[in-house]
Amino acid sequence: MSDSVDTAINKEPLLKVENLKKYFLINKAFKKENRKYLRAVDGVSFSLEAGKTIGIVGESGCGKTTMGRTILRLTDVTDGKILFDGVDLAKLKGETLRKLRPQFQMIFQDPYSSLSPRLPVGEIIGEAVKVHKIVPKEDYKDYIYDVMQKCGLQTHYFERYPHEFSGGQRQRICIAKVLALKPKLVICDEPVSALDVSIQAQIINLFKDLQEKNNLAYVFISHDLSVVEHISDDVGVMYLGNMVEFAPKRELFKNPMHPYTEALLSAVPMPDPNVKMNRITLKGDIPSPANPPKGCKFHTRCNKCTDVCKESEPEFRDVGGGHFVACHLA
Ligand code: SF4
Repeated sequence: MSDSVDTAINKEPLLKVENLKKYFLINKAFKKENRKYLRAVDGVSFSLEAGKTIGIVGESGCGKTTMGRTILRLTDVTDGKILFDGVDLAKLKGETLRKLRPQFQMIFQDPYSSLSPRLPVGEIIGEAVKVHKIVPKEDYKDYIYDVMQKCGLQTHYFERYPHEFSGGQRQRICIAKVLALKPKLVICDEPVSALDVSIQAQIINLFKDLQEKNNLAYVFISHDLSVVEHISDDVGVMYLGNMVEFAPKRELFKNPMHPYTEALLSAVPMPDPNVKMNRITLKGDIPSPANPPKGCKFHTRCNKCTDVCKESEPEFRDVGGGHFVACHLA
C-alpha cells in the first residue's frame, strides 16, 4: 500500500471501506446459478481520515451514489466491510445501527425534494435532534438557532416553510439538518449540482468552513471536476462499479494514469480562451453493469486498448505516492 494509505491506517482512519460490493438481483430464476445481478458497486476500497475529504468522480451510472448509500447502510451490503470508527457497519442492524446513525449522514443533490414541504424550517432541522436526544429539551431551541446561524440562516426563518426559500438557502437548511446531529462523516451526493454557479461557491465555502470547525470527514460525490479539485484531499475515479484510479488530489490532476481519468480531465473547460483544449472523446455509452465487458471494463471505450485488455482484468495497483490505478499500461 502507498505512503498516504499507510499513514491513514496508522492514524486509524475514521472510515475504511474494504472490497465493498452492492449487487441488485435483476431476475428471480429458481436456480441460484441462473440468477442475474446488476453489479452497481463491485469491490471498492479506500480510507478516509477525520477532517479530510475524498472526492468521488465518474459518469452517471458508475455506481458513486449507490456506493454512498451503501456505506451509510441506506441499502443492504452484498459483501465487504465498512469500518466506521472501528465498527463494521456492514454487520449492524436494527437498534444498534439506528443509534449510530446520527454520526454518519448524507446530503442529497436536490434541495427541493429533500425537505418536507409541510414542516417549518426549525422543525425540519430539529426533528432528528429530538428523536436522537442530541441536546436536553430545555436547550433545544437555542441549539437549533445556533446551528442555523452556523449555516448562514437567520433565526427568524425558524417558522418559515421550505417553499419560501431559494435553492441555495434550501441547501443550507439541508446542511443545518445534518450538522445538528453532530455527525463525524457526511456523504455529499452532488450537493451543488442543482445550484447556480455563484451559489455553488458559497455552499462549497460553507462545507469547508464547517469541516474546519467540526473536524468533519466528507465523501464528496460529484461529476464536476473543478468542484472536486477545490474541496478534496484525495480523489477516487469510478467506472462501472469499480474504483479505477485513486490518488492525492494534486497528483491525480497533474499526473492522471488511467485513460478514463485522462478523458474526464480533458473535458474540464479552461477559463483562458487562448489555451488549446486537447479533448479526448470517449466512444459510446457506459456499458450496462448487468452485463459488464470481459477483461478491463473500460476496454470498449478506451483509445489505448490492447489485446490483453480484452481478456484480463487489470489489478488495482499501488504505483507509489498514494497513487493507485487499475490499468495494464500504468
Ligand atoms: Fe485501457 Fe487497457 Fe488500461 Fe483498460 S487496461 S484502461 S483498456 S489501456
